[in-house]
Amino acid sequence: MKEKKGIYEYILDGCQNTKLLNVRVFDEPTKKAVYARQTALARETGVSNCPLCAVGHDANHTRIWDLKDMDADHVTAWSKGGATDIENCQMLCRTHNRAKGNR
Ligand SMILES: [Zn+2]
Repeated sequence: MKEKKGIYEYILDGCQNTKLLNVRVFDEPTKKAVYARQTALARETGVSNCPLCAVGHDANHTRIWDLKDMDADHVTAWSKGGATDIENCQMLCRTHNRAKGNR
């Protein structure tokens, strides 16, 4: 019985570690900081604050989106090992974020 108890404890620890690695949702302060950075740059260069709209040729090319109309996206896909931190975060308009699919 003593050995079994040891095994269960080991498995429990493993679960906790996995949980820590599974953070794939950006928190609000990160989103706001990235939004502010992208929007300032967009205003300066006269293009959209959605990087994918900015390289497009339709009416949204110069559109400045509201924070509520954008979603955070992993630059390097989370499923490919991209971190959930400010360096790997970009804000995309809802349409482009959806178009990229569930990454
Ligand atoms: Zn866009």
